[in-house]
Amino acid sequence: MRRILSYAAMAGILALSATQATAQDQASVEVRTEHVRGHIYALFARGGNIGVSAGDDGVFLIDDQFAPLTPKILAAIAEISDQPVRYLINTHYHGDHTGGNENLGKMGTVIVAQDNVRVQLISRPLNRSGGWTDEGAGIGLPVITFNDQLSFHLNGDEARAIHVANAHTDGDSFIHFKGANVIHMGDIMFNGRFPYIDVDAGGNVTGVLAGYDRALALANDQTLFIPGHGPMASRGDVVSNRAMIQTVRDRVAAMIADGKSLEEVLSAAPAAEYDEAYTWAFINAAKFVTAVYRSLTGE
Ligand SMILES: [Zn+2]
Repeated sequence: MRRILSYAAMAGILALSATQATAQDQASVEVRTEHVRGHIYALFARGGNIGVSAGDDGVFLIDDQFAPLTPKILAAIAEISDQPVRYLINTHYHGDHTGGNENLGKMGTVIVAQDNVRVQLISRPLNRSGGWTDEGAGIGLPVITFNDQLSFHLNGDEARAIHVANAHTDGDSFIHFKGANVIHMGDIMFNGRFPYIDVDAGGNVTGVLAGYDRALALANDQTLFIPGHGPMASRGDVVSNRAMIQTVRDRVAAMIADGKSLEEVLSAAPAAEYDEAYTWAFINAAKFVTAVYRSLTGE
C-alpha cells in the first residue's frame, strides 16, 4: 500500500511540476521545427514531441504538449502550412501530450485517440495536467476513438495509428506513415533515456517491448522515428534502446524468480551500467527498475 501511495504521490508531483513549469517558463520556451521527410515535420519544445503532417488536405497533428504553448505551436505550424489543423491524435493521455486539446477543440480540430485515452482523460482530472480549464474538459476530449487500429488517408499518405496494449499506459498508439516511412512512437519510446512506465495507468514493460517489436516489424533501415521524448531516432537507435530495456527486464525477471524483494533488486542495481547515459530529470535507474519490478510482479 505504501508503494502505491508513493506512486500516486509521484504522479501528482510530476503533474504539478509540469503545470508550474509551464506557467513560469512558457514565455521562454522555443518551438524548434525539424523537417523529417516529405510531408512530415517534428516540433520540439516542452513535453512530448509533436508530429506534423502538412499538405493539401490540411494539417494532421500528433500530440499537442501544454495548453500555454498552443500559440507558439500554431505559429510554428504556420511556418510550414497555411492550412488549419484538421485532425489531432493523442498518443496517450498524459498532460504533456494532450494539454493543447481544449485550445484545438475550440478551433474545430477533430481529436482522435485510442478508447482508453478518452476514459483516462474523463476519469482522472489530475491527468489533464497540461493546462485544460474545467469548462474546457468536454471540448478537449477525443471525439473519435478506436480500439485497435485506425488509418488517416491524408496528404497523399496513409497514416496508421496502431494501439499497443499496456505499454507506457493502457492507451498508447504509435503512428506509421507508410508513404513517408516515418513512425511517431509516442511515449513507447524515450530516445536515450530510461522510459517512464505509468504502471498505475496500466503501463507494463512487457507491452513497451512489444511496442518496439511491432514498430520495428514495419520499419526498414531508412525509417525515421519520432520518439515521445528525446531526439529523432534511426532504426539503430530504436534497436539499442530496446536492447537496454530487454536486458534490464531479463535481469529483474531472474531476480524475481529467485524470490528477491524490490529492495533486494534495487540494491543489486541491475541497470547500473546504463545509469549515466540514460538518467534524466524524471527517471533514474531506480525508478525504471522499480517500474520493471512492478510490471513483472503486478505489485
Ligand atoms: Zn507519457
